[in-house]
Amino acid sequence: MKLVMNLTNIRLFEKMALLSATLCLAACLAGAIASVDETKDATTADEAWNALMEGNARFVSGEVAEMDFPERRAELVSGQSPFVTVVTCSDSRVPPEHIFDQNLGDIFVIRVAGNVMDPVVLGSVEYGVEHLHTPLLVILGHQSCGAVTAATEGGAEGNIESIMIEIEPAVEIARETNKTGSDLVEEAIDDNVELVIKNVLDRSHITKELVEEGKLAILGAKYSLETGEVAVLTKVDSTNVAEMEVEEEEKVATAESEETPMTVIPEDIIPEGSEPESSIPEDVISEGEASDAPIDDSLNV
Ligand SMILES: [Zn+2]
Repeated sequence: MKLVMNLTNIRLFEKMALLSATLCLAACLAGAIASVDETKDATTADEAWNALMEGNARFVSGEVAEMDFPERRAELVSGQSPFVTVVTCSDSRVPPEHIFDQNLGDIFVIRVAGNVMDPVVLGSVEYGVEHLHTPLLVILGHQSCGAVTAATEGGAEGNIESIMIEIEPAVEIARETNKTGSDLVEEAIDDNVELVIKNVLDRSHITKELVEEGKLAILGAKYSLETGEVAVLTKVDSTNVAEMEVEEEEKVATAESEETPMTVIPEDIIPEGSEPESSIPEDVISEGEASDAPIDDSLNV
């Protein structure tokens, strides 16, 4: 009898434990879905940028947020709902999740040397802004970009040439400033960000329509290797999208009308004795000269 009682108690306990676990699992799943959906529903372009800037401030200070990767990973098994799409360079020093101090599932990241915009990259952008509904697209250049530096030096081998072709128009625009050396490189990096935004608008009617409808903003920004800070270069939204296109078209037209041969290489970039053909850094995403280019400290959208 005692044995039967004990078995009954054990089975009752097991049933209660099972019920408890089931309820917990249901609650956990509900919580996971709610948190993902809340992020998506609550986010505007301004809110998304503010979240990135708050994260960047944490990254700069070194006091980054605590992240429970196993917990977050489990939450995201059923799907993703990132709040921003970021296109940036493949440079190992510019990982968006780190410099914006964001968690798994927060940023839809597209990385390619020189943050250029070819059809494949553009397809990924459309996936982020149209399919995943991120309200903000960030085109993030960075100080001392090796790909842009190579484009200012001219000449490239192999498939790197396809990257240079995308960046060269920005270099031509930068040469209009008559800057040389690292100043020219930094100017070209900024112009490349603006040109990439123009290319997005020109080549993706899906993205352009989202901007025109006020569902998407595009921010051009630049990351400082020295300080870790991200600064805004330009912003395009429904209020200025038409104006932005005209400005960029005029810049490109001016640069093309005064074509400067790409083989002209500032002496202070090329080390003595090196051949122009070998002027591309072996590591295209290599470290470059430190820049003293001013960083716009206006971080608000
Ligand atoms: Zn780069």
